[in-house]
Amino acid sequence: MQCDKCGADAVMHAAYSGLHLCEDHFCASVEKRVRRRIRDDNLLPDDAIPDSPETWVIGLSGGKDSVVLTDILHETFAKDPRVELVALSIHEGIEGYRDESLEACEELTADLDLRHEVVTYEDEFDIRMDEVVETDPKNMSACAYCGVFRRDILSRYAAELEADKLLTGHNLDDEAETALMNFLEGDVSQIAKQFDASLGPFEGGRGGRTRGDSGDFIPRAKPLRDVPEKEVALYAHLRELPAHITECPHAEEAFRGEIQELLYDLEDRHPGTRHSIMAGYEELAALAAAKYRDEETTFDECEQCGGPTTGDLCRKCGLLEALEAA
Ligand code: SF4
Repeated sequence: MQCDKCGADAVMHAAYSGLHLCEDHFCASVEKRVRRRIRDDNLLPDDAIPDSPETWVIGLSGGKDSVVLTDILHETFAKDPRVELVALSIHEGIEGYRDESLEACEELTADLDLRHEVVTYEDEFDIRMDEVVETDPKNMSACAYCGVFRRDILSRYAAELEADKLLTGHNLDDEAETALMNFLEGDVSQIAKQFDASLGPFEGGRGGRTRGDSGDFIPRAKPLRDVPEKEVALYAHLRELPAHITECPHAEEAFRGEIQELLYDLEDRHPGTRHSIMAGYEELAALAAAKYRDEETTFDECEQCGGPTTGDLCRKCGLLEALEAA
């Protein structure tokens, strides 16, 4: 097969667009989609001033998605005085998994000469995920605990690092899966939150915001969300980026796994399904957001940590208390 742009040997065929692309044109097309998403989501406002750069904190796990995102952002903004990039990695305490992916993070940030902060569950909460799954006082999945602790760290450290934006490496497949899960669960308020930044602390489908430690909101962004997972993996491979591929031994989001299989199958038989899901989902989310716009949640302070909560204890402190009592 030959590249449709230049006639060189093609390295990929995108069934959803019909294009065959060579290595150079494929990599350029991934970078172009990321930059277009940054522009379309207005991540860098026209009035950003070079003397006072925005701080963009990137959640860097060492997996292919966050590694590719970090590399492209660095390539795009390393010489731009309006943006300062900081990589933030979280060590959950998972034997035989996170140590290796952190090595990938360290290699990448050293190569790029990028500031890199590492935070551990052990230092922050005096727990390790390996122990949490053994104890499991709430009879929940490992990812349910882990997600709460990770969100807490991301929020607090984004505020501590004075982040203007918090960027994560979710790709098109991740986003289409989440959209379908929310739809199948009938969770309209969750769909609304993913679109509308004014509703409260959440992880956004179109960007969204997260609540910082001081109660202010920090906009979130997912600049890779137009790029399918396989293309992210191919980009990491072709660019020889130090991505860590092994899956977490505690990964057990069964419903997401089923949705993933369903989407693979649909995309195979009907190329472009993921793109059309996301296009429809954003329209639906805008309508849902309008419905909930006036129902803004008010937050109290958690009795333990002072973080935002609608009860006496925030979710993180409730889980930590249960783990300590177990
Ligand atoms: Fe945590 Fe689950 Fe991710 Fe493992 S797969 S790091 S347990 S959220």
